[in-house]
Parts: sequence; C-alpha cells; structure tokens
Amino acid sequence: MDLKKLAAALIPDDDLIDPDKYEQIYPPRDLPQGAQVTRLAPSPTGFIHLGNLFSALADERMAHTTGGVFYLRIEDTDLKRKVDGAVESVIRSLKYFGIRFDEGAEIESKLNIYGPYYQRQRAQIYRAYAKRLIEQGLAYPCFCTEEELNKVREEQNAQKLITGYYGKYAKCRNLSEEQIYANLAAGKPFVIRFKSQGDVNVKHPFKDAIKGEITVTENDQDIVIIKSDGIPTYHFAHAIDDHFMRTTLVIRGEEWLSSLPIHLELFKALGFKTPVYAHTSSLMKTEGETRRKLSKRKDPELSLDYYRSQGYYPEAVVRYLLTILNSNYEEWERKNPQADWREFKFKIDKMSRSGTLFDLDKLSDISKTRISMLSAEECCAFLKEWALEFGSETDKLHFRDEEYIIKILTLIMGIGGKKRRKDIERASQGVRLMDYFFDDTFNPQYAFRFDDKTVNAVLDGFAAVYDPADDNQTWFAKVKSLAPQVGFAAEMAEYKANPGAYKGSVSDIAEILRVAVTGSPNSPDLCTIMGILGKERTLSRLAAAKR
Ligand code: GLU
Repeated sequence: MDLKKLAAALIPDDDLIDPDKYEQIYPPRDLPQGAQVTRLAPSPTGFIHLGNLFSALADERMAHTTGGVFYLRIEDTDLKRKVDGAVESVIRSLKYFGIRFDEGAEIESKLNIYGPYYQRQRAQIYRAYAKRLIEQGLAYPCFCTEEELNKVREEQNAQKLITGYYGKYAKCRNLSEEQIYANLAAGKPFVIRFKSQGDVNVKHPFKDAIKGEITVTENDQDIVIIKSDGIPTYHFAHAIDDHFMRTTLVIRGEEWLSSLPIHLELFKALGFKTPVYAHTSSLMKTEGETRRKLSKRKDPELSLDYYRSQGYYPEAVVRYLLTILNSNYEEWERKNPQADWREFKFKIDKMSRSGTLFDLDKLSDISKTRISMLSAEECCAFLKEWALEFGSETDKLHFRDEEYIIKILTLIMGIGGKKRRKDIERASQGVRLMDYFFDDTFNPQYAFRFDDKTVNAVLDGFAAVYDPADDNQTWFAKVKSLAPQVGFAAEMAEYKANPGAYKGSVSDIAEILRVAVTGSPNSPDLCTIMGILGKERTLSRLAAAKR
C-alpha cells in the first residue's frame, strides 16, 4: 500500500510541517544537571481537588528543589467537560495554597516558549505526528461505528476477554487499500488508530519513581490516537506534549498505571525518550471497617474549594499533605516548627506506594496549631481574606478597621500572653468569635442568674464608677467595692466561710457585668474587653442589659 498517499488522504492538512522541526522549535531546556521539569495537566472541568493539590505539591517540590520548572498544561481535548473559568480557578486555588507555576497556560512568564499550553491549540503538532505514523505503517484509519464497537465489547465481556480493539477484534487493521478508499469516498467518518506492535504475553520490568520496581505487560491495543473530530486522545497528546514540553518527571494518579503500557509503546513508536513516571497512590478514607477512595460525590472535603470556603489555614493543608507525602516530614516539622515547609528536603522515593489514608481530624489539628502560631497582624490578614470572599456583608465591613480587629485578636487568641488559644481551626470560627465586639453582630442572651433588681444594681453601680483609664487592678477593686452595696461578698474566702449570708461573691458580680457586655458568662479578660470596646459602647451595653 502507498502509505504516503494514504497519510495524505487521511490527513490532508496543508499547514503541517515536518515533525522533526519541532525538535528545534522546542529545544531541550537549558537547565542544571538533575533539574526536574514537572507539570500539572488538569482537564478544565472546574473541579479541582485534594488529589490535584497532592500531586501539584510533589511536582512543585521536585521542580523547585532541583532548579527545574513546574508548568501548567490544560488537557482540553474533551470539550464536553470544559467549564468556563476553570483554568483561572486552578491557578487561583493553587496559589491560595502557596503553589505557583513557573510557566504555562495563563501564566505570565518569559519561559513560555514551550506553548501553546492548551492542547486544543496544538492540533497541528499531533496531526503532523499522526501523519508520520500512518506513513510508517504504525497507524491506520478505523471506520467502525459506535454500534459495531459496542457489539464487540459485549462479545468480549460475554467471553470474559479483555475488552478493546486488538488482535482479531481490530477489524480495520487489515483493511485493503480498495476498502479504505471506498470508505473514504463514501464519506464514512473515521478515527486514526495506533497499530500496536506489542504482545500481551511479554512483560518487562519497569521502575516507577514512587511504586519502585513494577512489571509492565506489553500493550496490544490499537488505541485511537486521533478522534473523528481531528482532536487527539489523552494518550497521544500526553506523549507528544510531555516530550516537546521537555517534561522529565510525570507525576500522576495511579489510575493511569493501567495506561502505562500504551504510553511506553507510543513514546517508542514516536522515537521519543520516555520521561520518568511517578504514580501517586490514591487518597483513601476509612468508613467503618473498610477503606475507600475519597469520592467527589460523597466527600465534600475532596474539593479544594471546601478548605477555602471553610477557611482552613491554607499552609496547614499543605503541611498536612506533606505529612502524607513524605513519612519523615512530621519529625522534621517537630524539630523545626518555625521553619518554612519549603526547607524540608522532599524526596519522591519516600512517597507511599499504596493507598494513602486521608485524616481530616489531623488536618484540623495542624490548622489549629498553625493558627495559634500567627501574629495578630497575620491572623487579621488571614481572617480578612476569608471574610472578604466568604463572609457576610457585615463581616466584610468589620474588617475596614484592622486596628480594632488586631486588638480583639490579640486578646481573644491570647497573642503575646502566656497561653495561646489553640482550638480555632478555621477562619469562619475566628470571625464568629469576634461577633460581640461589633454592635451589629452582638447578640446577647442575657442569661442572668440573679433577680432583676440585683442585676440592675450591679450594672448601675459599676456604670457609675467605670473609668476606661483604670488599669486591671483598679478595675477589679471597683468591682469588689460594689459587693457590699448589693449584698455580695467582696472576698471569695468570706463567701465560702458563710455562703448563707450573701447573694453571691465578687465573681458573680463580674459575671453579671460579663453577660451584659459580651452576652455570655465566658469571655477573656473583661477589663481588656471593655478597654477595646471603649467607654461609650461599654456604658451603652451596661444600660441596655438592665431588666
Ligand atoms: N488530564 C489528566 C487528568 O486530568 C492528566 C493526567 C496526567 O497527569 O498525565 O487526569
């Protein structure tokens, strides 16, 4: 058969160049010895999940600890799954977690010479190579209809055979020249299939950078490389793009392991050196006695948006992922709690080989710890970022006065004090803790434990002597001085010695004031709270609480 003629008939495009020219257009990268070129290659579906961040973190670490490059490629060959704004969302999400690309789709970089980074814009390259494979007798047209393929699949299933287009089932593999041209003349739609030279009875040892030594069975499937709409499949685009974008290390989910034989054969047929592969194990969750993969449908915590909208401390998510990415990370962090996580020496061969258990409680604990390590300014910035995106309109307005917020946070988070508050895991909780400092979110329950007359006497009595200039001691002395006027014991000891003689003790007076000013019997230091609220607001709250 005249294969050159066939290639020209199947791929008549007149804008294709000699595929070898791409070797000069996309020259090997000029990088130091050992530098790794990695990529994140998501489909633009708009759903960016923890697994993406997990791989991206490994990609980013491998590139940036070796002087390499980490780039973003958009695998948009399947238009059905495309969602507007999805690319921006990937970039924004990863940036939120401190992961940046050096190059790629929508990234401003002078390194962007390996683009375009959207596969749909690279049709010419794929088609040039498909044409070459046809000329070499390594690809052919397939005219099988969907129905015919389904029928074959049913037959294979019934006989418990491997499904697919191979061996005697590869019907179009041996079409005669006449049949092919007759089909073309009849205008039958066709795909281009790869003509596999592999044998499933042959196995080869293979070294995966994460899984270690594995065995790979040769591929014998004549997979589709160019679909009937002229667009390549993932397999074909992967081999061509990772070659010409000069990827050295492909880190991807283990669900791709079953496609590895296809990819190895494609790289060989195309005359490209295969990159190193690293297949990450899936994130698992325990459910009762069993373990299962995190699922998009069942587990909201799989989506990265979950962590942003709930306001987990972003660095805590990264630090948590590092604990599951590298088993020695936790020990390193224990020894270097203040160090930047980027200082940790990440190693790909320390990654777990099989299912990685995802533990949201542990992530929450790390978030609590990290939040408890923030300065008041950092904490304010963190809560503000969350509030501006996910908070209510009132929350947003509150952050206009950052000085006020910083005072509040210093107190409620115990910043600079002996005991830091360590139970806040999310920005949403932190923002709610500040509610009583603002009149529009102050929602007191006024659960006083004394009769109205006593409450009013305490509130009036304190209002009469309150001076915001008082230090803590003077403030407390004034609270004590109210005791005899309202029938309470000024000293705890007196009260304990003779409880029947008093309505309560000085601490009960403080509680009445606390409930009036904060709406709750539990709060941090009340004198400081009054100082932050200011005289006017304190007095108006004392007045408003009267029965
Ligand atoms: N587009 C593929 C995916 O979203 C990428 C797989 C790979 O990294 O090669 O799963």
